[in-house]
Amino acid sequence: AAKAAGKGCYRFFIPDMHEAARQRQLLESDLRVALERGEMSLAYQPCVDSLSEEVTGFEALIRWVHPDRGPVSPAHFIPIAEELRLIDELGEWVLKTACAEAANWPAHISVAVNLSPVQFKSPELPFVVRMALAQSGLPPSRLELEITEGVFLSNDDHVHEMIGSLKDIGIKLALDDFGTGYSSLSYLQRVPFDKIKIDRSFVSGASDPASRNAALIRAMVGLASDLKMQTTAEGVETKEELQLVRDLGCSLVQGYIFGKPMPDEQARALAAKGSAALPDSHLPKREPR
Ligand code: C2E
Ligand code: MG
Ligand code: MG
Ligand code: MG
Repeated sequence: AAKAAGKGCYRFFIPDMHEAARQRQLLESDLRVALERGEMSLAYQPCVDSLSEEVTGFEALIRWVHPDRGPVSPAHFIPIAEELRLIDELGEWVLKTACAEAANWPAHISVAVNLSPVQFKSPELPFVVRMALAQSGLPPSRLELEITEGVFLSNDDHVHEMIGSLKDIGIKLALDDFGTGYSSLSYLQRVPFDKIKIDRSFVSGASDPASRNAALIRAMVGLASDLKMQTTAEGVETKEELQLVRDLGCSLVQGYIFGKPMPDEQARALAAKGSAALPDSHLPKREPR
């Protein structure tokens, strides 16, 4: 019986492997031409001041609508683009497009662009950033670059040199998905981040100030504030979560509660309106911490 079951597994396992590999190959070749075929676009998610509920900026998030498959998640195709070394070309397009579109927003509204750790290794990156700013006319102070703890896994000297070159341009630097990666806190002391983004995994479902997640968020906010860095709570979906991160002193909030990623025209309209407050969200505003 065991033998039969083993055979059964074997028989069903192999075709699946082939199918997965075939799917992956198809996606790879489609990804190579997606940019030139105009299948990529950027969606912008509002970043909101937690107390005033005013929009302070937007995060640019890449979108790929595959002609047959429909939308493909960046969480799925960015790693493939990194492996295929398509990420530099894709990343350059994201930077140029985000800067060009943000240049048409109100002058106090910033744009945040995600950088892959692979892009971060390219010595051309500071040049590409300067080009994107020069071509769009966007002031460097309105561009924020988001990096993850992943960049600190590679050669230390190179990373700190790169961060220095980017900061010299006058852009802002944010640490994305804080608390989820390779977390040695030592780099926080060495890297001049302007902002720390607290990952959604800490925020999701958190409403009780006595909970473990609240304790972690409180510690992260305290650390950031001592280091003169701002904090953004990522992925806030409910009023309870908003109330908690506001009470814990997060200065900025991003999440479905204030807006999902939206097309450029919609982002520009929201920026012009200024407030992201929901009509029914007259939450009691307490003093932070
Ligand atoms: P991220 O930079 O941490 O972006 C936040 C992700 O959380 C986005 O997913 C956003 O749509 C989603 N999100 C925001 N608020 C909420 C919420 O309230 N609830 C839930 N459930 N989700 C929320 P998205 O757009 O699918 O992007 C996933 C990841 O892909 C990003 O995580 C980022 O790491 C990467 N990515 C996206 N665009 C780019 C890009 O242009 N370049 C690079 N290198 N990576 C990108
Ligand atoms: Mg991000
Ligand atoms: Mg994030
Ligand atoms: Mg995240």
